[in-house]
Amino acid sequence: MKVILSKHAGFCFGVKRAIKTAIEAKKAANGRVYTYGPLIHNPQVVSKFERDGIVAVESVSNIKSGSTIIIRTHGVSPAIEEIFRKKKLKIIDATCPFVKKPQKNIAKLVAAGYKTVIIGEADHPEVQGIKGYSVEKAGIVGTPEEAKKLVPSGKLGIVVQTTQSMKNFQQIMEILLKKAQEVKIYNTICSATHERQDSALKLAGEVDIMIVVGGHNSANTKHLAEVCETTGVVTRQIEDASELQNAWFKGKKKAGVTAGASTPEWVIKEVVSKLKKL
Ligand code: SF4
Repeated sequence: MKVILSKHAGFCFGVKRAIKTAIEAKKAANGRVYTYGPLIHNPQVVSKFERDGIVAVESVSNIKSGSTIIIRTHGVSPAIEEIFRKKKLKIIDATCPFVKKPQKNIAKLVAAGYKTVIIGEADHPEVQGIKGYSVEKAGIVGTPEEAKKLVPSGKLGIVVQTTQSMKNFQQIMEILLKKAQEVKIYNTICSATHERQDSALKLAGEVDIMIVVGGHNSANTKHLAEVCETTGVVTRQIEDASELQNAWFKGKKKAGVTAGASTPEWVIKEVVSKLKKL
């Protein structure tokens, strides 16, 4: 079977930066360092880190003061940062600069008196962190159906989760634009997301099946799969090569492969090589 790898796939700038930051923090520390939540949404990388002494924690209550805590690419709310400071933890901020944009913009919108909305997934850590910068005032809209339920207001200020698909963003915006007299939008979808979605969409139109590789908890991987599905091509999302099933490829001649921004190169290579052998 012919296998084509998407032009843009795998680790993005923000993830590479966070991994480098965590490795450097570990070298400089005397003992373990901690990440608040998994550093990136990829279980293979997170378990390798754990073996190397870079440990993900969901709460800092059991960490000794003076320990190093790394803020992951998704960022955290100011309230969480305050907890770290009170506990006298050494804070290393690996929040992606693209995530800092919606955080700063939503704070500006609140200060300017806008009713604020985040377009994104309510339970995603990035969205929760952004919401914190709105002093917990922002509403969260994930789908056009949710947008329809939003109560109209005079001034509406909008930011977007960095990994949202353009299509979902546009569909929601069409509805929100009618909900206020004044609407200010910061399109904060990041360029890595654009590139990965655009090249995956193009490739999906040229193959018989698309394989999307990435953590099942990764929002950008999930959105990549949704983008591929819009072309009508059969799309399967897997975490690694062990999840590939021979039956998916019966009668298929060309397979396309793409991967989320938090998927390591070695995982992608394993998938491509297994596909080539089918
Ligand atoms: S997907 Fe975009 S926002 Fe998220 S870490 Fe990568 S570059 Fe940053």
